[in-house]
Amino acid sequence: MSGGNTSHVVVIGAGIVGVSSAIWLRRAGVEVTIVDRVEPGGPTSTSYGNAGVLASCSVAPVTSPGMVQKSPKMLLDPNFPLFLRWSYLPRLTPWLLKYLSHANDGETRRISQGLAPITFDSTDQHAALIKGTDAEDWMVSSDYSFVYPSRDAFEADHYTWMLRRKAGFEPELLEGEAVRDFEPNLASDLNFLAVMHDHGYVRDPGKYVAALSLEAKKLGAKFLKAEVKDFDLTDGHVTTVVTSQEKLACSQVVLATGVWSGSLAKKLGLTVPLESERGYHIVFRSPQGAPTSPVMVTTGKFVATPMKDGLRCAGVVEFGGLEAPASKAPLDLLRRKVKESFPKLTFDREESWLGHRPAPSDSLPLIGEIGNSGVYAGFGHHHIGLTAGPKTGRILAGLISGQRQNTDLSAYNPMRF
Ligand SMILES: Cc1cc2nc3c(=O)[nH]c(=O)nc-3n(C[C@H](O)[C@H](O)[C@H](O)COP(=O)(O)OP(=O)(O)OC[C@H]3O[C@@H](n4cnc5c(N)ncnc54)[C@H](O)[C@@H]3O)c2cc1C
Repeated sequence: MSGGNTSHVVVIGAGIVGVSSAIWLRRAGVEVTIVDRVEPGGPTSTSYGNAGVLASCSVAPVTSPGMVQKSPKMLLDPNFPLFLRWSYLPRLTPWLLKYLSHANDGETRRISQGLAPITFDSTDQHAALIKGTDAEDWMVSSDYSFVYPSRDAFEADHYTWMLRRKAGFEPELLEGEAVRDFEPNLASDLNFLAVMHDHGYVRDPGKYVAALSLEAKKLGAKFLKAEVKDFDLTDGHVTTVVTSQEKLACSQVVLATGVWSGSLAKKLGLTVPLESERGYHIVFRSPQGAPTSPVMVTTGKFVATPMKDGLRCAGVVEFGGLEAPASKAPLDLLRRKVKESFPKLTFDREESWLGHRPAPSDSLPLIGEIGNSGVYAGFGHHHIGLTAGPKTGRILAGLISGQRQNTDLSAYNPMRF
């Protein structure tokens, strides 16, 4: 491991993982250059358009027991928020087979235990990252609720709740009229609510990342707007990051390029089964009849979050790769489900967005040094990147500056594939 000998670290990617890494590296006194091909917080990065939830309790992966049997029916059901662009299936298949191999009890529990250490203290990690910075304006402490049509529907989801309880998260359960007392704007046929207290959300994730990037610059980090193309290595250790603008000499690198990390990892000899789990949001501007805190609508698998610029409803999983444009069907379904769940919602106009969750086939992020290359992976956070980004950045800064780690990092070993 090359931690300790640091003269200049290049952080590639200015999403939530990259900017968090840069801030913690600067706080450790390390010279840092952040490189991104776009301005931090811009709409092409996944950190821009998520649901904003600091979802400490999100320890249940999408792959779960029975998924292999259920997924053909889910894909064919126009009311289920799982979509596939069929022309992409041949390219998806190798990853999909690996992904589905984790859809059993043993693997789901293992993945869940792997996720918990980087999610459970999310609000504390965000608070530590943003203390005294302009980003403080964007974080809100709140409940995070999961709404079901009925107690039966909640109980049918017992496996997911078993995983959350095992990680130490116990919901408050509300039924019938108590649901409306808590969230008056929920539809009358949504009669059961599992409320997780002590969570939080970000009122504008794009502006939050932009504010964090400004903070990194204030602390002395440099920013280069450029595309990273390659690395130069000497005796297997990185010495230079090759960009579209210039070559940057470095002692270490943080690779925080989200869903686009596969091709750069490959240049270091590491093949990662990484796919885009495409997701969508619709922002309803000037909303009336919206929820007061983030609500996960389990029947539509989307989260409705009251953000600064409107009500953001984000979710859906679609497989279709990075290049294809947004599809109509997922957005139509999302819109329909929002209407069903919040029937009193009115708004001036709506804006939609397609984003790419970086999904390794085993649903665990890669955090740590790639071999002895001096390049540290910080990617693959699929549904939990905003939640776990600040802690990931802190861990990486600690590894690079030679600090002892309290978190068991074995589940995130980038060399595990
Ligand atoms: C619909 C949806 C809802 C979500 N909701 C939540 C939520 O509520 N809570 C949560 O915790 N997570 C959520 N997520 C997941 C979360 O948004 C991601 O896990 C997270 O944003 C990933 O952050 P990142 O820093 O790894 O990647 P990104 O934010 O994508 O940043 C990567 C950066 O790398 C840059 N880059 C890539 N390649 C290069 C290159 N070669 N050269 C230079 N720059 C490069 C890109 O331009 C980009 O800025 C959601 C995701 C979606 C799609």
